[in-house]
Amino acid sequence: MIAQQARDAAPHEVCGLIGGIDGQATEVVPVPNVADDPVHHFVMDEQILAKTLLRFHRAGLELVAVYHSHPQSGAIPSSSDIAESHYPEAAYLIVSLKERQPFFKAWQIANATIKHVDVYIGDSAPNIDLYHDLTRAQKIAIMIAGIMAFIVLIVWSIDLLPPAPSIPSP
Ligand SMILES: [Zn+2]
Repeated sequence: MIAQQARDAAPHEVCGLIGGIDGQATEVVPVPNVADDPVHHFVMDEQILAKTLLRFHRAGLELVAVYHSHPQSGAIPSSSDIAESHYPEAAYLIVSLKERQPFFKAWQIANATIKHVDVYIGDSAPNIDLYHDLTRAQKIAIMIAGIMAFIVLIVWSIDLLPPAPSIPSP
């Protein structure tokens, strides 16, 4: 649902709130993005934000996560995301549309530091792609390790070949 909302609104960022119990999300509420520059920022409509938080509170739901989309960049909090985060107890879920497949990542943002956290929404596990996280150098290192393993395998299988039959001397 969030991915669909994000796709529909691109290139604008979308945002919203996720309510739930014991960290388990039960409700996703889109909140209008009223940022002056919605292509690069999100600012939640204050009235809807307050109304939703109040409704969560009355329903005994906690704020599990604040979500927003990054239509063009990765699922990593921007400096303004960190500066403007006000809910240290909630996860910051970011959906990136940079790749063909929407990509989710969640972060705990508190005291200007960020930490990656795992979240699951509804019954669909997020498509967390560890490879995506790696730096270029790490990717190259993995590639080299792969090539080395391949070479070792070939050398090893040549070694295992039966020895050439010896030609009997006349
Ligand atoms: Zn952002």
